[in-house]
Amino acid sequence: MLFTRFAPSPTGYLHRGHLLSALFVFAAADLFSAKVRLRIEDHDKSRARKEYIDSIPEDLERFGFKFESVSLQSKRQALYEKYAEILFSKQKLYPCSCSRKKLFEENPVNADGEVIYSGHCLKNPIDKNSDFALRFKTPDKTITWEDLLLGKFEENPKNQCGDFTIKDRISQWTYQFAVCVDDLEENIGLVVRGEDLRNSTARQIVLSEALGRKTPPLYLHHPLLTEKSGEKLSKRQHSKSLRAELEQGLSIEDLLGLVCCEAHSIPKKAPLTLNEAIYSIQKTYFSCFLKK
Ligand SMILES: [Zn+2]
Repeated sequence: MLFTRFAPSPTGYLHRGHLLSALFVFAAADLFSAKVRLRIEDHDKSRARKEYIDSIPEDLERFGFKFESVSLQSKRQALYEKYAEILFSKQKLYPCSCSRKKLFEENPVNADGEVIYSGHCLKNPIDKNSDFALRFKTPDKTITWEDLLLGKFEENPKNQCGDFTIKDRISQWTYQFAVCVDDLEENIGLVVRGEDLRNSTARQIVLSEALGRKTPPLYLHHPLLTEKSGEKLSKRQHSKSLRAELEQGLSIEDLLGLVCCEAHSIPKKAPLTLNEAIYSIQKTYFSCFLKK
């Protein structure tokens, strides 16, 4: 059985961007006969809030999405410890005490504004009394992977980001690590997510391999809804929540139609059922698979 996942972070209520992402996940799941798991990515305790965590399954259910399982990263601490031990035993981790300021002063940054870590703390023993992060020794090799929508990529994560963190200086597991463990444990064979995460793929492939994954999942990165300014739709830019839009009088079908119209899968605004919305995404974005 093939499994995929929808994995929002509970840092706000779900908005239209999430709705589109869920439509892409379910559209792909239908085509590839995959079952969909819901994973609430609350690994960042400073940003996740209980009211948002509780709202995610409720909101998705209102739209009619059905999930094979629901999980929370915050309930998986023991599992993350177990996989960190595997990396330790393979000598793939080392502590890094660099402050954020020092990281940006002493290392180059990539096009996404991320530090390309030079390995300073691997070469220089750290001060044991300081807080430290754990870094993964990224292998220096080119990874070739094929996105189901975007085609072939060749990337060397050593050049993209260098040795990256799996645990931060305040002892929180990082997004990259938690996702690789979760995808492995939940037997996720198809990853469908927004294009903003495409650059994480090569590093997740090498980390997953070190964790013991035999073959990487299939990847599909979909376009994102953008603000008129071209910026990604997010809570920070005061995107209205789906809840607020429903309270203001829009129906579930109105919202599904609006999102599909904004994603150009229907030519003009019209209410859609969930199945119609999923089909419009398939027809517009997945026609290459439909013909087969
Ligand atoms: Zn360091």
